[in-house]
Amino acid sequence: MAEYEYETHDYDVVVVGAGGAGLRATLGMAEQGLRTACVTKVFPTRSHTVAAQGGIAASLSNMGPDNWQWHMYDTVKGGDWLGDTDAMEYLAREAPKAVYELEHYGVPFSRTEEGKIYQRPFGGHTTEFGEGPPVQRTCAAADRTGHAILHTLYGQSLKQKAEFYIEYFAIDLVISDDGACTGVVCWKLDDGTMHVFNAKMVVLATGGYGRAFFSATSAHTCTGDGGGMVARAGLPLQDMEFVQFHPTGIYGAGCLITEGARGEGGYLTNSEGERFMERYAPQYKDLAPRDYVSRSMTMEIREGRGVGKDGDHIHLNLSHLPAEALHLRLPGISESARIFAGVDVTKEPIPVLPTVHYNMGGIPTNHWGEALNPTADDPNAIVPGLMAVGEAGCASVHGANRLGSNSLIDLVVFGRAAAIRAGEVIDRDSAAPDADAAQIDKIFDRFDGIRHAKGGTPTAELRTEMQKTMQADAAVFRTSKTLAEGIDKMHDIAAKLDDLHVTDRSLVWNTDLMETLELTNLMPNALATIYGAEARHESRGAHAHEDYEERDDENWRVHTIARVHGNDVELSYRPIIEDPLTTEKQGGIPLNKIAPKARTF
Ligand SMILES: Cc1cc2nc3c(=O)[nH]c(=O)nc-3n(C[C@H](O)[C@H](O)[C@H](O)COP(=O)(O)OP(=O)(O)OC[C@H]3O[C@@H](n4cnc5c(N)ncnc54)[C@H](O)[C@@H]3O)c2cc1C
Repeated sequence: MAEYEYETHDYDVVVVGAGGAGLRATLGMAEQGLRTACVTKVFPTRSHTVAAQGGIAASLSNMGPDNWQWHMYDTVKGGDWLGDTDAMEYLAREAPKAVYELEHYGVPFSRTEEGKIYQRPFGGHTTEFGEGPPVQRTCAAADRTGHAILHTLYGQSLKQKAEFYIEYFAIDLVISDDGACTGVVCWKLDDGTMHVFNAKMVVLATGGYGRAFFSATSAHTCTGDGGGMVARAGLPLQDMEFVQFHPTGIYGAGCLITEGARGEGGYLTNSEGERFMERYAPQYKDLAPRDYVSRSMTMEIREGRGVGKDGDHIHLNLSHLPAEALHLRLPGISESARIFAGVDVTKEPIPVLPTVHYNMGGIPTNHWGEALNPTADDPNAIVPGLMAVGEAGCASVHGANRLGSNSLIDLVVFGRAAAIRAGEVIDRDSAAPDADAAQIDKIFDRFDGIRHAKGGTPTAELRTEMQKTMQADAAVFRTSKTLAEGIDKMHDIAAKLDDLHVTDRSLVWNTDLMETLELTNLMPNALATIYGAEARHESRGAHAHEDYEERDDENWRVHTIARVHGNDVELSYRPIIEDPLTTEKQGGIPLNKIAPKARTF
């Protein structure tokens, strides 16, 4: 048995992750006087949220008429009727409050002439329940919105005396015999010490798993560690087959060009110079939702109208926009285009390609962020002591496809909701739970096994194999054949985790070991994604199945629940929540407005 000394820390709450979701939860917990620790593997302001460009959706009506019911309708339709109605209502209704809170905390939003928060159009955000013109709903701090939010929330959290454990890598959750989460075990990266955090509530805010794919807009740190920990604890993941491809990743580099570029008037063209989105989405054109635009681009390329010498990408045009607007509203992407594509956006189009961008699936939660472990009797059973927020979680507000600028608002609305709920359910007077010693031993045994792994497969090699398989076989368009082949390949690739080779055995700044732990987290996320996709015999949102082209509400308007056992995945299904939080009489959305119908734009 592996012997590791460790230090013990007792808290009311431990938040794992310091992106937008983790920081908003941390801040909310600390504000209520809960003893709160925030553990993060990267410095808080280096979390992927810092890269969010375009903005954060809320129906402030600063640029024209808007209301939360329209925002909710767009979210329901954007998600292709797979989201949970209560959570989607909560998101849209609380959004303005959450944005004003950010403003008061000090986020430097861009302003209108009258000094109000500036809002831009974004894909899929409309008026009049999808009948009216696009709405300007996305609040922005130029094209650096995530950066502004993250820095502000970090400063506020420090002010509230939340305690930060920076560059601590969470290895695994501690789960008691009766199934409650009692804490988390961490490895301190810079000195190799081990730490057991005991807490009455653990909040996973570890972000997405974009790096399961070869080309992604997300940071290299987006390795789905929360999903990995949950899967190892025998808990499920939800709706993992829904992976969003952003239409405008820079060709080759994969870096993002925000949808705000199209919001500000940019448009896509094919090799014939045609604005082809007019054909696919006559009403909203380039501002149709992302799954729609990504598929249209892929169709153009497949039909021989791609640009470039290999005809394998598409052009994004901004050069018709006034240089001043580009400078004021899109300074960051002008720079990205110059550095990563060698393009001057005032003169030339940017070469772009649909690129993996966001994970709609994640750890299932209710609209308070409490993690779920559905049983046959109770599809909404919670896991005591465990919450998940942000991209790691699945509330599910984004259903089968997330609308642009709905993630940043998800982070703050549900980070805040989790804090409110924790304030209600945590007994402040009790002592923090004690970690089960046998559990701790088991966690260290696994860690030690990986640290001393001496098989024949280097981590980087296996990771690339996984990424290429996912990219090829769980792509924008999927077929029964590619998915079945993908499952076979992923089954074998995941088995090779037992044959890994770690070269560096030290405990201090061992990136080899850290990346290997991350790979063991990416793998269950990837497996759940491809198994879930193979099983889902319909097309919905980001899941475009060429052998089942229609959405099938009768059989498939259900959440996929995936439990990963080694390199196998057990699937079951959970009903979606159809009831909103408020009735029409109470001012809620009229039910006939959100009843499923064909999704056209
Ligand atoms: C380039 C880009 C641009 C985007 N632009 C927008 C936009 O304009 N509007 C919008 O709404 N959405 C946007 N999104 C999506 C949105 O930014 C993300 O979904 C969101 O930021 C995720 O936030 P998060 O708090 O869940 O996780 P992250 O910001 O990814 O943070 C994860 C945190 O978890 C920590 N962590 C992870 N694993 C461990 C571990 N094992 N131990 C300890 N700590 C750990 C990390 O250190 C980090 O602090 C964009 C995404 C990308 C990639």
